[in-house]
Amino acid sequence: MQAQLKEILERDGIWTAVQDYVSTRSSDHTTISDILDGEEYRKLKEPGGFLADKNNITFSLFTDGIPLFQSSKVSLWPVYMILNELPPKQRFTRKNMVLWGIWQGCGKPQMNMFLRPLVEDLSQLFQRGIEVNIQQTEIRTRAMMIVATMDLQARAYVLQMTQHNGEHGCLYCLEPGKVVKSGKGNCRSYPYRDVDPEPRTKENIKSDAQEAIASGKRVHGINSESVLSCLPYFDVTTNVVIDYMHGILLGILKKLMSLWFDSKNSKEPFYIGKRVDEVDSIIKTIQPPYFLRRLPRKINGNYNHWKASEFRSWLLYFSLPALQNILPDIYLTHYSLLVEGTFILLGEGISEADLRRADLLLRTFVRNLNLLYRDSIVGLNAHNLIHLTRCVRMWGPLWAWSCFVFRVLQWRNKEVHSWYWKCLQADILVPSVPEKGRGNGSSMQRRPTQRLLPVYD
Ligand SMILES: [Zn+2]
Repeated sequence: MQAQLKEILERDGIWTAVQDYVSTRSSDHTTISDILDGEEYRKLKEPGGFLADKNNITFSLFTDGIPLFQSSKVSLWPVYMILNELPPKQRFTRKNMVLWGIWQGCGKPQMNMFLRPLVEDLSQLFQRGIEVNIQQTEIRTRAMMIVATMDLQARAYVLQMTQHNGEHGCLYCLEPGKVVKSGKGNCRSYPYRDVDPEPRTKENIKSDAQEAIASGKRVHGINSESVLSCLPYFDVTTNVVIDYMHGILLGILKKLMSLWFDSKNSKEPFYIGKRVDEVDSIIKTIQPPYFLRRLPRKINGNYNHWKASEFRSWLLYFSLPALQNILPDIYLTHYSLLVEGTFILLGEGISEADLRRADLLLRTFVRNLNLLYRDSIVGLNAHNLIHLTRCVRMWGPLWAWSCFVFRVLQWRNKEVHSWYWKCLQADILVPSVPEKGRGNGSSMQRRPTQRLLPVYD
């Protein structure tokens, strides 16, 4: 990781771009346009803070499990880091990202074992930093990982928590949720409360983890301590954020569309499946904004296979005009709360008034969700909306730390696999942890630095 970071920082113009971008941030602190304007980021710049030294930098971390090939049982878990102080255009290009490592194997990695070397690397970068040569001058730069983004499933594994359908699945508060009927089975629902549940803190998570380890039983949804808590500066309730791509687009929005268009709901007042062709033809007539690279395909027969970017275009630009006079007014008005709330939090120049409005819109959306639809729709993704504005206040707009930054979904077949093979050649792949009854990983455990070959089932 140090070598990759050094190579990036010493590349022509990168160090200057970092310094320029940081120095041009507005000092009025009244609006939020990027992660550098977030409340928590600005705290680091205060006298005595980590970023008071202008040579220091910060990372955001992203990880997710993806299948090695379609329908493969073998999955890859890449861990990427991006440099927050680069201007967005450079920040999100592939050549400026650090690929810390990739785990491969059946199922999921034992996260604490997988991420322990990462925590060691990050500790070294935080304490000692690295020397970089910028225009014949040696500069010492230290780095800190300030944001970690992942979907709910990965987050539960990484943070040693219960999954999103378990009791106390929220990372930010102690709402236990309740079990409700969903189809032929059950699921967990998080009812909206006028007074927010007690928040989680670094301290109460640590004490729950210690109690869980001692008793062998989960406490408030916590199974054990996450290796990330070994980073002295890291507080999971602050530094782990909610990814809107998974939570809103592939979560809530997709669920709403299945309620509206799936014939299973034909008796419901919100069902509009019979008018789906009408909606599709309205979309066709809309002149899209010039910056949209991907227009949504037809809803009819397709929306279940939409990519996240299609859901994003539909949410922000097409859905409200297309659903007007088709979705009953009360449902359309309610849905528009989600559209506007998300739109505000994706913006540039988000003011305090914008933050308050977005929070109100999203809370009103959640409060009415089960009244208009059903209890089962208020899962953890919907509940997270009450915590979303806080994430933006702390770390800037949703786009600055969403999983979109890696276009991971588009990389599955190309980039990740090509990087995977490069990693094999470079010996930077993290060894697979053997599962019970599987022999193929045991040799790797004994010889963790040996080159790992892919396992095909
Ligand atoms: Zn919560």
